[in-house]
Amino acid sequence: MLDCAIIGAGPAGAAAALKLAQAGYAVQLIERHDLPHPRPGGGGVSPAIGRWLDLDFDAVIATRVNRVRFTWQLSDPIEVTLKTEPMWMVQREHFDALLVERAQAAGATLQTQTTATAARFNGRAWQLTTSQGEQTARYVIVASGSAATIAGLPRSPGREAIAAALTVAQPPSQAAVAQFDFGTLKNGFIWNFPQGDRYTISGAIVGGKGKPTELRQALTHYAQQLGLTEADYTYRERSLRLWGDRQPLHAENVLLAGDAAGLADPLLGEGIRPAILSGIRAATAIMQALAGETGAIASYSQAIYEHWGSDMVLAQRLAGLFYKFPKLAYKVGVKRPAAANIMSQILCGELRYSDVTDKALQILKKSFLPGFGG
Ligand SMILES: Cc1cc2nc3c(=O)[nH]c(=O)nc-3n(C[C@H](O)[C@H](O)[C@H](O)COP(=O)(O)OP(=O)(O)OC[C@H]3O[C@@H](n4cnc5c(N)ncnc54)[C@H](O)[C@@H]3O)c2cc1C
Repeated sequence: MLDCAIIGAGPAGAAAALKLAQAGYAVQLIERHDLPHPRPGGGGVSPAIGRWLDLDFDAVIATRVNRVRFTWQLSDPIEVTLKTEPMWMVQREHFDALLVERAQAAGATLQTQTTATAARFNGRAWQLTTSQGEQTARYVIVASGSAATIAGLPRSPGREAIAAALTVAQPPSQAAVAQFDFGTLKNGFIWNFPQGDRYTISGAIVGGKGKPTELRQALTHYAQQLGLTEADYTYRERSLRLWGDRQPLHAENVLLAGDAAGLADPLLGEGIRPAILSGIRAATAIMQALAGETGAIASYSQAIYEHWGSDMVLAQRLAGLFYKFPKLAYKVGVKRPAAANIMSQILCGELRYSDVTDKALQILKKSFLPGFGG
């Protein structure tokens, strides 16, 4: 019997597998695709994760970004040099593959082309049904991303957001600049990230209602403005699970991690850092439980709330105001050099939303009053 079965070999599952395998536990990753698997995504990664995992990421950092450019409907730009350490830009298939390879090297097993379809707890262990047969494990980590719920396992919390990415197989015109555009996509934004010899233009509707067709139209319009035609890119849709209400992220002997736990940032869409954070925390909770610590599994939900969720509540408040008055919010909240640096300090883990939300809300609210902010 396995100590732990992990469903999904994305960043959350692979980080958990790595930690458990390094500690000598019998752990298996169950992944529905073959790996490496092309994955739509901006690939912007916080360098904070380098401090959490004892791994050399150099080989998979395609670009280090030290400049950020913001636009409103592709005009009215502001470009700033970051005062933080550079953001990492990765090609997701290589980044994810590195994490999985290191987990395997530490002793984790990987079963690809295997879809987990159902699970049953017998009071002592989980019996998993997969497309390749049955598997028994004392503990299960659900790290299956924003995909549909697996029968018998807790439902993923969070709010589903429509997202998509255009991958352009050409070097970007500005190699080390991350670009964010507001206003082209209603209730959302577009981010254009360099990734070495290619770049990805991603969009997500995070701030309210929207249709996949609107997202596609906005991304196509953005691409056209850059002189791209459909022959220049591949288009893929994938949903994101944004932090919603506070909910338990565990049940008996099972934990939810990453997108499956609904951890993505409701303002900026960042999901890789919380996926890795929760994968590590889930592994720690399981190790404590296997060592006989009572309450270890239940304390996981509390730890994720303290270290991530409580800040996402504030991100959600900011997002609510931002997407209600996006043009004004762009003018007073984004188009300032300090704003870009605050955003990158948040992404680098140097600042939390709790450090800046009161001031940001004050600025936004003040500017909405007649006579203020213009
Ligand atoms: C267009 C787009 C752009 C993005 N850009 C960024 C960005 O720049 N920076 C950032 O931080 N975040 C970004 N994100 C968010 C980020 O991609 C996710 O938050 C992150 O991938 C979550 O990691 P995860 O391990 O939880 O899930 P995933 O990466 O989704 O991995 C889940 C894995 O589980 C597997 N799986 C699913 N169901 C089953 C099953 N039943 N059985 C077996 N295997 C299964 C899947 O095949 C997959 O490999 C973006 C998302 C989108 C959609």
